[in-house]
Amino acid sequence: MDIPATITCIDCGADAHRLTPEPEDGWEVGDIVAYRCAGCLDRWDLVVADPEESARSEAAAFDLRQWLADRQSGNTGA
Ligand SMILES: [Zn+2]
Repeated sequence: MDIPATITCIDCGADAHRLTPEPEDGWEVGDIVAYRCAGCLDRWDLVVADPEESARSEAAAFDLRQWLADRQSGNTGA
C-alpha cells in the first residue's frame, strides 16, 4: 500500500504533510490518514481505498450502463 508523505492541497495547491505515522503492520484499507496543509493549515482526512475494489466498482457501473442500453434498444424481455 503506497501512501504518500505529502499530497497537494485541494484548496490552495500547497503541500499537505501527512500527520499520521505509518502503522507497524503497514497501511490497511479503511485506515484514516490525516494531512495538514502548509499553506492554508486545513486538515485533510483521507481513507485508504482498496484499488481492486475501486476497479470492481467501475466494472459494476459499466455493466449497469450496458443493461440500460439493452433496455433502451427495445429488449423488454418477458
Ligand atoms: Zn491548503
